[in-house]
Amino acid sequence: MTLEGTPLEVRVSAPAKVNLFLAVRGTRPDGYHELTTVLQTVDLHDEIRARLLGTPWARQHPAARQLMRLSLRHDAGPDVPVDRSNLIIQAATVLLEQLGVTHDACDEPCDDADDRVPRTEITLVKRIPVAAGMAGGSTDAAATLIALDRLWGAELGPEALHATAAQLGADVPFCLTGGTALATGTGADTARVLARATFHWVVCVADGGGLSTPAVYRAYDELDLPPSLVEPDVVLQALRTGDPTLLASGIHNDLEAAALSLRPELADGLESLRSAGALRATVSGSGPTLIGLAADREHADAIAERVSSGFSRVHVVSSPVGGPRVTEGQLQSV
Ligand code: ATP
Repeated sequence: MTLEGTPLEVRVSAPAKVNLFLAVRGTRPDGYHELTTVLQTVDLHDEIRARLLGTPWARQHPAARQLMRLSLRHDAGPDVPVDRSNLIIQAATVLLEQLGVTHDACDEPCDDADDRVPRTEITLVKRIPVAAGMAGGSTDAAATLIALDRLWGAELGPEALHATAAQLGADVPFCLTGGTALATGTGADTARVLARATFHWVVCVADGGGLSTPAVYRAYDELDLPPSLVEPDVVLQALRTGDPTLLASGIHNDLEAAALSLRPELADGLESLRSAGALRATVSGSGPTLIGLAADREHADAIAERVSSGFSRVHVVSSPVGGPRVTEGQLQSV
């Protein structure tokens, strides 16, 4: 690990995702569900800002760098933890373990910390709705891996980063690269998919808070449905041709019924999107966020205007966007 020329601050944008297709093929022996899903990143982003603090000696001396203190702060309210249960801290911790560095995660921003000890301070700017089926935590974890790999001069490379991401959660490997992917297994095995056009969506954040993904899968199990046999062929073709009407006919989400069983009122939200003109409306991933597909940007704006009074937040977004984007601050010198 060499730090000369590495930045003192790295900022990484972390895009949310939507699932255009999600079929549950059954439950695996390890308890996870076997999925076939098509995902795209959308232009609704969190941001991870990682700063390396401490005296130049603390930041650069090999002896000092056997220890790293970590802290996380954000403006996202009580639903997003700042301790070790946050996927950002988990991502940082896994990376430090791989680098053989002892770590100490502060449970609060450690502003009064000893400057002689190297310290990484991570700030999360939260815009993606929480526990909403848009992979907010997973994309934060992926962006954290990218930010810290650069900030700490680790240079793990794409394959090692991908393997590290897979340890953190099924959606994290996709979030590292973003774009459009077909994912199988638990969702962690991803293959890039050709997507020629931009699609426009109305993202509606339902009142009543988030839904826990494990709770939605439990509700899915209680529905006792046979393994889904639907295939994503129509969606893949629509992505190649860029036809939103064709895409609308292929959109599918087996978790929709489970999310509706936990939140029956979401049915009214879906209906309001359809009556406002959405080509297709469904829940995003495990919900409870609803997504409506529009024919173009103007159409999406018009739908958003019509449905906005029924939701706590409505965003107009497009897909696909690329993966996390990196900007760097001032470089270190020795
Ligand atoms: P997915 O779509 O991957 O199932 P989600 O978007 O439904 O995930 P998240 O926003 O990731 O859900 O939040 C799920 C829970 O994870 C939250 O209730 C929160 O307690 C916890 N959490 C941990 N780290 C984060 C994070 N960085 N951002 C948001 N929530 C986090």
